[in-house]
Amino acid sequence: MKTITRQKPYEEIMRLLEQKSRVFIAGCGTCATILQTGGLEQVMTMKDKLQESGFLVTGLTVIPTACDEMTAVSLEEYKDAIQGAGAILVMACGFGVQRLGLYLDKAVLPALDTLFMGLEEQPGYYIEACAQCGRCILGYTAGICPIAACHKGLLNGPCGGTNKGKCEVDQEKDCAFTVIYNRLKNQGRLDLMKLYHPPRNSQVSSKPRIKILEAEEVEQWV
Ligand code: SF4
Ligand code: SF4
Repeated sequence: MKTITRQKPYEEIMRLLEQKSRVFIAGCGTCATILQTGGLEQVMTMKDKLQESGFLVTGLTVIPTACDEMTAVSLEEYKDAIQGAGAILVMACGFGVQRLGLYLDKAVLPALDTLFMGLEEQPGYYIEACAQCGRCILGYTAGICPIAACHKGLLNGPCGGTNKGKCEVDQEKDCAFTVIYNRLKNQGRLDLMKLYHPPRNSQVSSKPRIKILEAEEVEQWV
């Protein structure tokens, strides 16, 4: 599973950096490196572009996994270069940006847009397999998530637009419910197609969603 990102347009990065002349760049050695949006090569390219645009790049790094707690240790190594910068440009997903923001008392700016959490179905081919809805129905849908796979995010389907098994929104794509139907059929569980799923309970996905793991829960797992 990877966090899928893409680089923001350079014009937007310029707007974010307005009134800053000194920048430190941080990439991520995990998802953003694999996605080629914030690995060493992209960080070096960004450095060159910023310098051509008149910025002083005080330093750069590619943090092994920008979203995890070891980031604090990685940043410590670049303390002076970070101190000398007016802004930190982060070439990582939104988790990474927020992780750096926990430790730095200055402008921490995203250079990437975060799109979704992607399951690598085949090498280099990522699908949004789960939208973290808070009430999983995969047990009734042969392991295919209609919230993520259907263009309309329907729980009960197909919609009236499905045509010869294809989706009305994208005719290149199989209707999510055709795929669910076929898989349920193969599993001898077609009766589940008739099951009605009540509207999503938005309380289970109301924001902010926070999980606090109690010590007793941790003990139960060891
Ligand atoms: S139903 Fe879909 S979006 Fe919800 S938890 Fe299950 S896989 Fe994720
Ligand atoms: S055709 Fe199928 S996948 Fe497309 S929007 Fe309708 S139910 Fe969803």
